[in-house]
Amino acid sequence: MQKKRIVILGAGFAGIYTYKYLHKYFHQNKNIELVLVNKTSYFLFTPLLHEVATGGISSDDIVHPIRESIGCCLSEFHETEVESVSCEKKIVKTKGGDISYDYLVISLGSQTNSFGIPGVLEHSYFLKTLEDAFALKNQIIDTIEKAGAVEDKEEKKRLLTYAIIGGGPTGIELATEISEFIFGTLSRYYKPEVIKNVRIFVIQATGQILPGFPNFVRVEAEKALKREKIELLLNTPVEKITKKGIFFGENCIETETAIWTAGVSPVSLGFDQDIEKEKGKIVVEPTLQVKNQKDIFVLGDMAYFPTEDGCLPALAQVAVVQAKQAAKNIVALINGVAPQPFSFHSKGILLSLGKLHAAGTIGKLKLKGPFMWWVWRTIYWMKLITWKQRIKVGVDWAISLFMRRDINRGK
Ligand SMILES: Cc1cc2nc3c(=O)[nH]c(=O)nc-3n(C[C@H](O)[C@H](O)[C@H](O)COP(=O)(O)OP(=O)(O)OC[C@H]3O[C@@H](n4cnc5c(N)ncnc54)[C@H](O)[C@@H]3O)c2cc1C
Repeated sequence: MQKKRIVILGAGFAGIYTYKYLHKYFHQNKNIELVLVNKTSYFLFTPLLHEVATGGISSDDIVHPIRESIGCCLSEFHETEVESVSCEKKIVKTKGGDISYDYLVISLGSQTNSFGIPGVLEHSYFLKTLEDAFALKNQIIDTIEKAGAVEDKEEKKRLLTYAIIGGGPTGIELATEISEFIFGTLSRYYKPEVIKNVRIFVIQATGQILPGFPNFVRVEAEKALKREKIELLLNTPVEKITKKGIFFGENCIETETAIWTAGVSPVSLGFDQDIEKEKGKIVVEPTLQVKNQKDIFVLGDMAYFPTEDGCLPALAQVAVVQAKQAAKNIVALINGVAPQPFSFHSKGILLSLGKLHAAGTIGKLKLKGPFMWWVWRTIYWMKLITWKQRIKVGVDWAISLFMRRDINRGK
């Protein structure tokens, strides 16, 4: 058998699982080279990022060194940024040099989309990376700290206003966590006259939060926002964000903490050939291969996998099952067998809504309340990729049931 080199770009959900599945097939096979490329040295479990930003769990709990994942067969890992792909030369161009491939898996995920709204990139906080989570946690602590020392009432109010722009799942989960962090933990360490001035907003451009979610989840989420003292502004498209605050029409919410969760777009990657794209995503065949590029697979948030009503959503759940099919199809191609089409059946939707509250669906079951919260935690706990992480998160969650959150600044 001729030696084959499989290169995986991105070690997020799609990339790391593709690696794991391929490694199972090709364990100690000297004719296969598996190569992972990622701009950071770790895999990040994004669904629990909001808990890091609000002191619920430690950052160590949701990162996993990529080197540990590839330890078994000591496959190649390049910690560098991918720039472009030459389909003709079968080369990936990275900041650290060129990497050749026989089969390529592209899974670089998504990035913040500001939709061109002025000031978003300059004056907002985000929740996409570990650094984002640290910056947000530090900002919450810093503003509360500063507000305690400020006499001017308007300035105090501005410092203590937190506005989450985007009423999707990330925005809603984050809002309830911020509320618990401030009212449940920081309130024990700061004077009541500071905490009583805190206001948390969720700003949504359209008339409904959680687009695409079942109605009963939306209803539960709205109840949770009320319970957590979060003000919901619907039909409020943001026009600009400045140092002063968030502007819509004549109105402005004055704040130093605008948190943008309103949208993501796929990471854009250069190609030396025409590649069909839809909404910035790369259109894939049912087998997850790129049209006219049978040796390239695109997975996760970067892939446009057409469905009856658009394309598959940008979810970790989708990325992980695509990884399994892509790995099978690469094995098939190497063995000279036809690749098989991918199909996706959603296992359900889960949304955490603060301590002991969650709502969602599992199959046809609609669940809410403490039981669903426990289910939510158990499912995410099982999805963590190593036992080390599961033990750490389990311990942190057990502690957080009885004790306050961690108020150390993020670093
Ligand atoms: C805060 C938050 C909460 C979420 N919660 C959920 C949830 O509860 N359930 C759910 O199903 N989904 C959730 N998602 C969505 C989920 O995280 C994504 O759909 C999933 O991560 C997509 O997997 P991916 O492999 O395509 O991309 P990612 O997991 O983002 O991986 C992309 C990888 O590529 C690397 N990379 C990016 N650009 C480059 C480059 N140029 N060069 C080299 N490396 C690069 C990144 O460092 C990263 O490791 C959440 C997302 C966020 C941000």
